[in-house]
Amino acid sequence: MIFRVAIPTPLYRLFDYRPPVYETRVAQPGCRVRVPFGRREVIGILLTLEQDSELPLDKLKPALELLDEQPVLTPDLFTLTTWAAQYYQHPVGDALQQALPVLLRQGQPARFQHQTLWRAAADASLDSLSSRAGRQRELLTLLQEHPQGISTDALRAEGGNPALLKTLAEKNLAVAFEHIPALPGADAGTEILREAPLTLHDEQHQAVTAVQNAQGFSPILLEGVTGSGKTEVYLQAIQRCLEHGKQALILVPEIGLTPQTIARFKARFRVPVLALHSGLTDRQRLDAWLWAREGSARILIGTRSAIFTPLKSPGLIIIDEEHDGSFKQQDGFRYHARDLAIYRARAHNIPILLGSATPSLESLNNALSGRYQHLRLTRRAGNAQPPRFELLDIRQQALDAGLSTPLLQRIQQHLAQGTQVLLFINRRGFAPALICHDCGTPFDCTRCDARMTLHRQPPHLHCHHCDRQTPIPRACTHCGSTQLRPAGSGTERVEDRLHVHFPDTPIIRVDRDSTQRKDALNKIMAQVHTGEPCILVGTQMLAKGHHFPKVTLVAVLDADAGLFSADFRGMEKTAQLILQVAGRAGRADHPGEVLLQTFNAEHPMLNTLVHAGYDAFAREELRLRRGGHLPPFAYHTLIRAEASHQGLAENVLLSVRELASKQHMLPADVQCIGPFPSLMEKRAGLFRAQLLLQAGQRKPLHQALAVLIRLLQTHPEARRVRWTLDVDPIDS
Ligand code: ADP
Ligand code: ZN
Ligand code: ZN
Repeated sequence: MIFRVAIPTPLYRLFDYRPPVYETRVAQPGCRVRVPFGRREVIGILLTLEQDSELPLDKLKPALELLDEQPVLTPDLFTLTTWAAQYYQHPVGDALQQALPVLLRQGQPARFQHQTLWRAAADASLDSLSSRAGRQRELLTLLQEHPQGISTDALRAEGGNPALLKTLAEKNLAVAFEHIPALPGADAGTEILREAPLTLHDEQHQAVTAVQNAQGFSPILLEGVTGSGKTEVYLQAIQRCLEHGKQALILVPEIGLTPQTIARFKARFRVPVLALHSGLTDRQRLDAWLWAREGSARILIGTRSAIFTPLKSPGLIIIDEEHDGSFKQQDGFRYHARDLAIYRARAHNIPILLGSATPSLESLNNALSGRYQHLRLTRRAGNAQPPRFELLDIRQQALDAGLSTPLLQRIQQHLAQGTQVLLFINRRGFAPALICHDCGTPFDCTRCDARMTLHRQPPHLHCHHCDRQTPIPRACTHCGSTQLRPAGSGTERVEDRLHVHFPDTPIIRVDRDSTQRKDALNKIMAQVHTGEPCILVGTQMLAKGHHFPKVTLVAVLDADAGLFSADFRGMEKTAQLILQVAGRAGRADHPGEVLLQTFNAEHPMLNTLVHAGYDAFAREELRLRRGGHLPPFAYHTLIRAEASHQGLAENVLLSVRELASKQHMLPADVQCIGPFPSLMEKRAGLFRAQLLLQAGQRKPLHQALAVLIRLLQTHPEARRVRWTLDVDPIDS
């Protein structure tokens, strides 16, 4: 018998071992094994049991230890992950590791944390201790005060001496027992709801009914304008799922897993709701994972990686803001959690609900072609009205840190009527560049093809691409002039100018810098929710999820930012971002207004978006994509490479490409585009290039990729180049 083991390495291969020497248990695929690997010991996962190895048996080392009796990954997750490794062409050992909680990767047992507690024996009496044993009597009294048991730490904190526990135990006065921490909410009984659900409006009702009636695997796209009550649809669909005794898994974007979101689920349901957020310790994460696996956690909410949560009885998967880019992992194992969720729902034969106000063109195309059910929520819930859009032409307008006079006037009007204003600018810092006023030389990052961003709080230059930070220079490196000026504006500069224009109004800046401290964002939200007039200025942190009932004016300071992007997805992303931000306006009783400052007021797609809506925009964009043979009408894979010398990465990609075509190894309908230097060629000191593969079908694309990987691995220069694959990339 030979163990074929997947080991977390960047190598595209498996490793064979003999079974551990004294192991008599039957090993099953999916169990963890500790094995020697080079000079280290690593934790791998047993993939298969084999009769033969390519190596002679006496060359194989024995595995050191079998860590599990039962496979640590449930069979469905094992299949999902190995499939994903194949699909994304990622080494399976690494993919499997990423599907596990950290403590399991480190070899900890897959069980709950046990805690030893102490209590007094049932018939223990102080009379059995001599009056001179004062400390023992104290300790026993303490134990008797805690009939549920108490830990040694807690005993010590209450003044007891745990060293004497052993003595009491020997006298049969104290007992130790193992305790497993309880799952919060597990004692809820059979009652599912904590509060009454809202009365659904017609469109919501249709949506909930569709999920309820879904037989087996049914992907459903829920396209609902911001404020239309998608969350209520989720909640009631989950309720049906719980009534059938099943579990629900909800994925939200990275930025969306806020305490407010979690609170909304906990307020509705009595059953255990677990949030898998970044604030959990490794231990808490493992416990959550185990509670999900044994089925006692009924609702699981998490970001991308939560797609790997084991479920005892899955009933429903929901992807909120399904278009969000954070569902795609952007390094290493570059999986898309939405796509894995579809795979998983099919494997479990359950419905999956993809919700968004601005669906991805991929999902929309699937809905339009009938592969997904398409449900719409076209109006806002309650009394809220859709916001009114206006393109504000700023050609020939004087701009003060990006603020035009008509915009300033409009802000004034809204503040005067006692409501709040939200300004969106997708650049943090004070200014995106610092430039010499005499010779025009900008301060560039020495490690990237990028300008350094000027920050004032605290003052420094910061490269947002490689994180390099430097003090603000006194003089131009080119001409020595001291006339250095900030160019353009970021959130800090807008905040500065707003203080000048509106000295009596609180200005609240929301970006990564202002929210770094723990709880900062909560404090900000609390201030906004007082409802007092204020101006919020921030980056896309403000764009998503938040419900600001008193915001009536939303302005996008630079609506042109993504219009002329080199990425063919630029327009889609811009549209999604604009509508998400706009969705913050007028969500309650006060009608909202959205102003878009632009130098391109006649831009056709911008006009379609604001006057005809996302659906019309998206259909037009899909038409263009179809014409251009671009995703979702074609499949893409990017091979990215980087090296410390300019041109090296590009050369390696080129020679691999030429080798493959010379040997006629590439399927006919696969197009190779490039290699080209990446958009930002130099980044963090490395020079980058990429080769794009495009095909109308997935299969030939995967074949081509396998060929290129093999050539890359054996290329003589490969050691000097770091290359990565991105199957279905979402940016270029
Ligand atoms: P979305 O997620 O689609 O942006 P939300 O679910 O946050 O929208 O709902 C927006 C607001 O409308 C919330 O305050 C919510 O409580 C309210 N709402 C949703 N559905 C209903 C309903 N059927 N009746 C009354 N209010 C509703
Ligand atoms: Zn100069
Ligand atoms: Zn840099």
